[in-house]
Amino acid sequence: MADKIDMEEEKASNGEALSNGLGNPKKRSPESMSERVKRIVRSNLLVILTVAGVIIGVFIGLGVRNAELNRTQIIYIGFPGELLIRLLKMIIIPLVVCSLVSGAASIDPKALGKLGGWAMLFFLVTTLIASSIGVVMAFIVSPGSVPLGKPNVEGLEEDVPQAKEVTDSFLDLIRNIFPSNLVSAAFQSYATSYKVIKKNSTDGTLNITEEKVPIGTDQHGMNILGLVVFAIVFGIALRKLGEEGEILIKFFNSFNEATMVLVSWIMWYAPIGIMFLVAGKIVEMENVALLFASLGKYIACCIVGHIIHGVFVLPAIYFVITRKNPYTFLWGIFTALATAFGTSSSSATLPLMMKCVEEKNGVSKQISRFILPIGATVNMDGAALFQCVASVFIAQLNDTSLNFIQVITILVTATASSVGAAGIPAGGVLTLAIILEAVGLPTNDISLILAVDWIVDRSCTVLNVEGDAFGAGILQFFVDRTAKQQEDTELSEIRLGGEPSAAVPEHSPLIEKRGLGDTAKA
Ligand code: ASP
Repeated sequence: MADKIDMEEEKASNGEALSNGLGNPKKRSPESMSERVKRIVRSNLLVILTVAGVIIGVFIGLGVRNAELNRTQIIYIGFPGELLIRLLKMIIIPLVVCSLVSGAASIDPKALGKLGGWAMLFFLVTTLIASSIGVVMAFIVSPGSVPLGKPNVEGLEEDVPQAKEVTDSFLDLIRNIFPSNLVSAAFQSYATSYKVIKKNSTDGTLNITEEKVPIGTDQHGMNILGLVVFAIVFGIALRKLGEEGEILIKFFNSFNEATMVLVSWIMWYAPIGIMFLVAGKIVEMENVALLFASLGKYIACCIVGHIIHGVFVLPAIYFVITRKNPYTFLWGIFTALATAFGTSSSSATLPLMMKCVEEKNGVSKQISRFILPIGATVNMDGAALFQCVASVFIAQLNDTSLNFIQVITILVTATASSVGAAGIPAGGVLTLAIILEAVGLPTNDISLILAVDWIVDRSCTVLNVEGDAFGAGILQFFVDRTAKQQEDTELSEIRLGGEPSAAVPEHSPLIEKRGLGDTAKA
């Protein structure tokens, strides 16, 4: 908002300079120091407020921590933060569905395939790199070589997810892609559980054999993967309808725009919400010193891995492809990153991330509203990385040495299971069981990972959403470059005296201004 006004002012002043004759801009009175500071503060107001929110939150947390509050009082302290999470969650379903329907309807199916393909390739490669960093870090640091035996973490055993066959885990993922009921997909997803049935042996003896039969159950938790797939296919179908589909496309566009207006309002509440989320967590923390003493190496391994991937690897990939400054890009999405840190949820961060990349990083609505919901659902670099560290850590704790095939299995299953991880707090821990099952490690050691997941999950979620944002930035670069190449071809054909060839479309070949309107401003 303030930054938008500022951008407009800046554009206006540039325009003024240019209109005054090329190379001879009208002299403007030099900006005074205070004006400059005001301008910078205005254009970065939200980021400044967010940083202030985090810092004040830490102080409030540390201050109140000594007051020995009871459970109820701690819940009250976290209340403004809880409100932020509720607001963001409220907006997820309309946002994901409407933006994907309009996104898919606004992009030519061929281009849609191309964009989707590039995005998937980027997501896959970066997740594999993240997994490899996780494995290498875990082997270098050896977080599981604890001389005193296994760290003692009690009370979390019941939260450990039920062990599932690897095949059933992947079948569940596929089942969730095709929800049997769209309404229940908004709050339930499919998960296999097991029932042991006894039956008489068929070989004529009186022996009774037991069979573990997978049975489907509906679990609490949004099936966002199913909604994402449905919305994309529905958008493509609407486009296929031609004129008949226009009304519905317009409906989804307006719905989407209105949702984004709500997001821009929620954004200004984010600094307060984040402040109380941080404060609440600090007050709530128990036995931090003890946890760090026993699991400090594991925590450090995950966080340093996340930092390497988020601060060096992803920015380097972005720079090599686009030749643009990746840290300016990161600054633009700072509020969204802080929200990811505060909420530990990629899904809850999605609305703010869309706003940030569009308004600060020049990603078009067509790209951001198509790619970011997909990224928030399937692309989880942070989760893959910490799952790899956790698997090697558990192997080390159990004195199991991993062979080459097992390491490759960890890399591949971590990449695949991060797709199935929900963008919610501790979503990755739930799918960690798949990897442990795949390499034959005990799943009850997940209780150790759960004990410190509230810390690791924060940097993990920041990395998850950062990867999505860089994906959107890189796709925007490809789209712009393709458009520019086509324009150049048109121009050179005109210069040569011919008509532009019929094969060359007049506008950007990848994206038409059908679907998402560029006029509505939030
Ligand atoms: N909390 C993460 C996210 O929302 C998922 C995870 O636990 O890895 O992206």
